[in-house]
Amino acid sequence: MSVQEIRLFGDPVLRMPAQPVVDFDKELRTLVKDLTETMLDAPGVGLAAPQIGVSLRVFTYDVDDEVGHLINPVLDLSDDEQFGEEGCLSLPGLTFDCRRAFGVVAKGFNMHGDPVVIEGTELLARCVQHETDHLDGIIFIDRLDPEQRKAALKAIREADWAGGPAPTIKASPHATRGLAL
Ligand code: ZN
Repeated sequence: MSVQEIRLFGDPVLRMPAQPVVDFDKELRTLVKDLTETMLDAPGVGLAAPQIGVSLRVFTYDVDDEVGHLINPVLDLSDDEQFGEEGCLSLPGLTFDCRRAFGVVAKGFNMHGDPVVIEGTELLARCVQHETDHLDGIIFIDRLDPEQRKAALKAIREADWAGGPAPTIKASPHATRGLAL
């Protein structure tokens, strides 16, 4: 188990729909451990497997002192919404206001193949939606209002990590105020 390099915006793996997990084997448990360790090291609120270059439907989260993971998630979203700041470990240091469902019921599996349900609101719901988007090749700036998205793309172009070779910069816990997903 080890901390992996976090892939940054522009890496093609972040745009690929991830494959469902079929084998709940030792390799999968290593992946969950690597994701968890990389997320805690960053530090981040959540991390999806494509963000460490693995195109499988797995993510981890660390919200309200609860660390967990979910495999092959299927989401049921509430009708009411929340609008607030969101960040991403693949876009270090940038946060933008993003609209999300207020609550979510997420069904899936743990690393042993047992069915699990995660139910949450506010940050946990935001995190689960953000990470599940990663599994579909969606990055949160895709969900911004057109004006905001324009500003986001400009900020990305101007970011010191953009376009460079394998940057080693990590998201600052301060720059993203604990909202890095
Ligand atoms: Zn993210």
